[in-house]
Amino acid sequence: MRLSTKLVLVTLGLVIVPLVLLTASLLLLRVYRPRALRTDYGQEDTNIMNINVIRRFDALMNQLRQEITEREPETLLDPQQLSELNEVFLKDKAYLLGYLEECYFNGDAAGDNEEILGYIQGQEAFEDRDKLYFAGLSHPYLIGCQRFVSGGRQASLYLVCDVSGSLPSVTRIIFLVTISVLALAGGSIVMLGWLRLKFAKPMKQLQTAARSIAEGNLDFELVPESDDEFGELMGTFEEMRQRLKMNAEERLRYEQDSKILVSNISHDLKTPITAIKGYVEGIRDGVASSPEKQRKYLTTIYNKADDMDKLVDQLAFYSLVDTDRVPYHFTKIPVRAYFDDCRDELTPELEAQEFDLIYENTVDKDVLIVGDPEQLHRVISNIVSNSVKYRNRNAARGQIRLSVRQEREMILLEMEDNGIGIDRKDLPYIFDRFYRSDLSRSAATGGNGIGLSIVKKIVEDHSGRIWAESSPGKGTKLTIELRVWEENGHE
Ligand code: ADP
Repeated sequence: MRLSTKLVLVTLGLVIVPLVLLTASLLLLRVYRPRALRTDYGQEDTNIMNINVIRRFDALMNQLRQEITEREPETLLDPQQLSELNEVFLKDKAYLLGYLEECYFNGDAAGDNEEILGYIQGQEAFEDRDKLYFAGLSHPYLIGCQRFVSGGRQASLYLVCDVSGSLPSVTRIIFLVTISVLALAGGSIVMLGWLRLKFAKPMKQLQTAARSIAEGNLDFELVPESDDEFGELMGTFEEMRQRLKMNAEERLRYEQDSKILVSNISHDLKTPITAIKGYVEGIRDGVASSPEKQRKYLTTIYNKADDMDKLVDQLAFYSLVDTDRVPYHFTKIPVRAYFDDCRDELTPELEAQEFDLIYENTVDKDVLIVGDPEQLHRVISNIVSNSVKYRNRNAARGQIRLSVRQEREMILLEMEDNGIGIDRKDLPYIFDRFYRSDLSRSAATGGNGIGLSIVKKIVEDHSGRIWAESSPGKGTKLTIELRVWEENGHE
């Protein structure tokens, strides 16, 4: 059964159950009260007797009883004296009737006394009870009887109380009960509306959201409208949607990256392979006729194969970076000696590429950093190879300035070239994987856009920072910041 149907049923139950109970109580009241009147007062009248009226009447009867015992019986036959006593009861809408063979005192001339006396005489009702209920012609009455003996004759004093003002009619009670039931029903309907708003609406929203997700649509927003449990549930649902969306976008990006990578690799491999094939054909067809020419061809073939080897190596390393599985071997590295060695290694390579290396290292010789020497070497090598790749062909010689200095607890490594530079719009993206600027594309230098993303990853894994500054046509400067190792601190 659906929740909304259950809610409707519960609310209907809330209306119907009290309604049935109230109706049953009313019916019982209708049956029971007349029966109580019949047993207590011997009356068939079905009016409901108000219990407070009876109590009040009992009090008046007690008062009368008291008066009778205190007075001489003869005085009770004296209309003058009875009139005084009658005054006392008139205040309470009651009056006396004196009876001795006939009515000798009438406390209220306007009452239905004829009728009352006829009724009283017509039955022996006062034999076993002290009060009676009588529905007179014009009013309902409660009548009590006190007997006394005077001069050997038995006389009766009746206390007659008009209770018309005190007995609410059944119709009035039913009217009031109906109003209460209607109010209850109205309240329940309002409650049903509130429940629907509180439960059914958020449930519907959640259901629609879940269906959208099941259909693969994650482009919507679930805004919690309340701070109750439903609000929390919607908040958690929204969080889940955002995560799923992020994952889906990530997967899409990954798939796109993979496509770009495959296309870049094919291009990067194709270029040296075509060159190698060309040179091999040159040797085979005898174009390289002299031994000197052949050696030149072979050297070029070797260099191209070496490029391919480096590319494959970089790709293998990239897959480690991509899956966060770079095997680091951290150790304490003396900054001065480490970069001096780098300089020694780079100088002949750069010399062969017609590059000048300007090297400055002002760091104290016993200053250490914690790092993986091999991976830091990869960082420098990638940056230097970019400087070579993106050299300015118009300049006679390329130039790289490698400067290392200490600033407080930081080592700053600057690598500046005089290459083609990077356009201002490309600068923020050069560390993104697969990003290649238009300039570098048109330079036809090859490149797959992963070199600097690897550099950034390694630097960050050393808790360092890297940033780039560049002026197109003038050159590019990359700065790396690494923390100095301290005896009692950390890297
Ligand atoms: P790629 O394999 O394309 O060189 P990188 O991640 O190493 O990939 O570099 C990303 C992009 O940044 C390059 O395509 C190039 O446009 C630019 N770039 C990097 N270093 C330099 C540099 N020294 N001079 C000019 N442009 C550079």
